[in-house]
Amino acid sequence: MNLPKAFKNKVKKGEFLRRHTTFGIGGEALGWYEPLDSRELSGFLKRLPKGTDVFAIGAGSNLLVRDGRISKIFIRFSKPFFRKIDISGVRVRAGAGVSLGALARALVDQGLTGHEFLSGIPGTLGGAVAMNAGARTVFDDSGTYREIKDIVEDVEVMDRRGRVRILGKDKIKFSYRHSSLGPLFILAASLKLRRGSVAQGRKMIARIQRERRTRQELSYPSAGSFFRNPRGGDSAGRLIDLCGLKGARVGCACVSSKHANFILNKGGATCDDVMKLMEIIRKTVYNRYKIRLHPEVKIVG
Ligand SMILES: Cc1cc2nc3c(=O)[nH]c(=O)nc-3n(C[C@H](O)[C@H](O)[C@H](O)COP(=O)(O)OP(=O)(O)OC[C@H]3O[C@@H](n4cnc5c(N)ncnc54)[C@H](O)[C@@H]3O)c2cc1C
Repeated sequence: MNLPKAFKNKVKKGEFLRRHTTFGIGGEALGWYEPLDSRELSGFLKRLPKGTDVFAIGAGSNLLVRDGRISKIFIRFSKPFFRKIDISGVRVRAGAGVSLGALARALVDQGLTGHEFLSGIPGTLGGAVAMNAGARTVFDDSGTYREIKDIVEDVEVMDRRGRVRILGKDKIKFSYRHSSLGPLFILAASLKLRRGSVAQGRKMIARIQRERRTRQELSYPSAGSFFRNPRGGDSAGRLIDLCGLKGARVGCACVSSKHANFILNKGGATCDDVMKLMEIIRKTVYNRYKIRLHPEVKIVG
């Protein structure tokens, strides 16, 4: 890897992605870089040899990374500079590396409401904005479904040439589990919330976490819901369940018996196992319902 001299010691080699993804799957990265701040990142990007592939990684909770060598430098926003939370009235500016759980707890403690739906999602703010993460406040039909786009005001981004811009919400296209920010690095985001009760907010977060433990399979590594829900309001999990695929297995990858849209790593699963299981699920659902399922997880490498 032909790196600029100043960065030779900052980019680690021999880093395995299975250590950095909630699936516990993924081969060795070409490089792993955790910038100190946005200035350093900008300098890095400006000096990077043309054609070097870089990839922003958050908590790795929505990624399926290929086995073997991945010819990308992974950039993670983990240093304190990217984990700051500044609150001013009902407006909040937080760094891309802040975990959603920590953010929700900090905001509730300040008597802010409207963000609680994020509290059970095991990602970072950067990943949530990139994916337009969303969830119900309560998991039955009485719960309101909310997405991060509902509370974002603007997003600070850096392009591949190291230039920083602030994009207002009107300049970003958000849709179901997608944003138009794809090729950009998200450095921070501003959110607009409402004043609320600290006690109510804490209660809501505790309930969200309780419900997730009951409904989701959290005892094995996974990337959460594997497939996007198809258009038309049906749920991927319901279709997979109706096809009798709960418990289906390839190698050490297995469809959860609790939540049919979760593929679990039962210990030592490879990306190849998951991809084969994914194809079996897609084929079975298509043959029975003529509905094509598409992965929500990002397949990397
Ligand atoms: C048990 C479980 C439950 C889950 N429940 C939900 C849920 O209820 N709702 C939901 O929406 N998701 C859910 N997810 C999926 C996942 O947590 C979300 O998509 C989350 O927003 C991903 O954030 P991350 O930081 O882990 O991003 P990663 O998985 O690391 O990356 C996801 C994408 O975001 C990009 N990205 C990450 N950081 C940046 C950055 N700083 N700049 C630019 N791009 C970036 C990556 O390049 C990649 O394309 C769940 C996952 C698990 C394991």
